[in-house]
Order: sequence, then structure tokens, then C-alpha cells
Amino acid sequence: MKFELTILGSSGAMPFKNRFPTAHVLNIHEQLFLLDCGEGTQMRMSKFKVRKGKIQSVFITHLHGDHIFGLPGLLTSLGMNGRETPLNIYSPPGLEAMINGLFPQAEKGPPFKIIYHELDTTISQLIFENEILTVETIPLSHGIACNGYLFREKKMPRKMIKEKISEYGIPFKDIPGIKLGNDWSNPEGRVIPNNELTLAPPPPRSFAFCTDTSYDERIIPYIKGVDMLYHESTFLEEDADKALATNHSTVMQAAEIAKKAEVGRLILGHYSARYEDLDPHLLEARSIFPASYLGYDGAVFDLPMKKS
Ligand SMILES: [Zn+2]
Ligand SMILES: [Zn+2]
Repeated sequence: MKFELTILGSSGAMPFKNRFPTAHVLNIHEQLFLLDCGEGTQMRMSKFKVRKGKIQSVFITHLHGDHIFGLPGLLTSLGMNGRETPLNIYSPPGLEAMINGLFPQAEKGPPFKIIYHELDTTISQLIFENEILTVETIPLSHGIACNGYLFREKKMPRKMIKEKISEYGIPFKDIPGIKLGNDWSNPEGRVIPNNELTLAPPPPRSFAFCTDTSYDERIIPYIKGVDMLYHESTFLEEDADKALATNHSTVMQAAEIAKKAEVGRLILGHYSARYEDLDPHLLEARSIFPASYLGYDGAVFDLPMKKS
């Protein structure tokens, strides 16, 4: 059961050499979610072998161009590829008008239905839920309406021990209830406790996506203990004044948030084009939070299933 983040673009604001603007794909159990959609996203999907037709929903953090300028092209290509499945797009208010402005005649817009969900970025709310996961928003501080997203896998049912089915002659109809944690009574009335029949499921996994944002400890309660945190890290510490002036974070600030929130690992990204070499980013981050990793275009971060 996959829980995997692929970085399509790791650059902030402007593309730089081999770094495209922000875009990520999260694969949870083969359900694909696109997180931001900077310029060139569909080209990155081709390069890194992400099937764009499988994108189920799009989650946009805010309406700065480096997070949305890939959308018109992607929507057009999806239409040309014959997509019929509706596409859900979550974002702060204003995106629908921007996209519609690019497709002024209805017949020239994408031929599939786009369902826009406008979010209140000042509060955290549950915005999506299906059989395997939930998505909640995280209010961010970026000078314009902006929110991050928190993806949480749902707890899976307990795992039936196959040998016990034949050993006790358990009928098929009783198995769903046992997987939910029920004990089982045989026809003679003897109760077999659930922990003899099943194994505990692996603990659910979680991922928080926080970009763009200035240093803001108010997000810590939302992301406390997540297995993986993506936190923008636009600047090095020597440029902390620029981070402050532009509502962005330094690498050390991202690491500080990761440390205080006790997350499993930190993924860095959204780097300013002023830096070519990113090794100093990694060094600065690890000086505060050792489990820090450089997000780079094409990087894949897999969260393996945890032990029960
Ligand atoms: Zn940005
Ligand atoms: Zn921004």
C-alpha cells in the first residue's frame, strides 16, 4: 500500500536550471493527488513517469503564479486525452475566475467537469474524505490567502489470520465483523477473542504540505507528529531578512518547525533561484533537525508501512 511523494518542481518563484516551479504528486494506495501546479508541471509528469490521467484531485495552496501557472496547460491536455472523469480542484478563492478567464468560450474549455472548492484559509477544516484518507487544511502566513494540506491515512481494518478460518470453521459472513475487532462465538457458544483471530493493522501514515509561509509556530498543533512534513525553505539563514520581507521561511526556520512539531522527517523545497548549490540548505537544516532531506525535481519519498 503506497504512500509516496514525488517532487515535480522544487523551485520557488522562478524556474532555475533543472528546478521547475512548485508541483508535487502524492500517491496514496494508487490514488494520485496533485499538490500545486507550477509552470511545466505536465512536462515534469512526463519526465518522471506520472500518469496525469490518474490525477484524482488538485490541491492548490495559493494563487501565486509559481503554484498555478501549470494548470491551464494541464487541464487542456487532460481534455485532449479524453478525460471524462470530473476533476476536483481545492484552492483559496479566485482560481475559478482566473481559469475561466483563459477559456472565454465555454466550448473551448476543458470538456470534462471541473469542480472548484473555494477554501477559507483562515481556519483548519476537513475538506476531503474517502475510504482510505482524509485531507484537512492548515492556515499559513504568506501575505495572501494561503493554506497547506494535511493528508492522513485512515486506520485499516485488522488483518484476519487465514489459518484461524479453517481451524475454527469461521463462516465467510462473519469475517468483516472480526476484521472490525469483534470477538467470534462458535456454534457451541465458545467465545474466541479477537486478538487470537487477527493481527493489528499498521498505524496510519500522515503527510503535511506547508508552502508558502513565513515562520509561524501556530501551525505546529496541526502538524504535530506527522510522519513527513514538506515545509518551504526558500532562503538560507544569511538571507533571513529577505525571508521576512517576502513572507517566506529560511531552511533553519523550517527545521525549527519540524523539530518543535516532532515530525518523522522534513522535506525541503521551494528554493530561491539565487542558490545553485543546495548542499548548504541541507547542512543548515540538519544542524537543527537531522532527519531533513533535500527535495529536488524527480525525488521520490516513500513512507513505508509501519510495523503494527
Ligand atoms: Zn511560491
Ligand atoms: Zn507564494
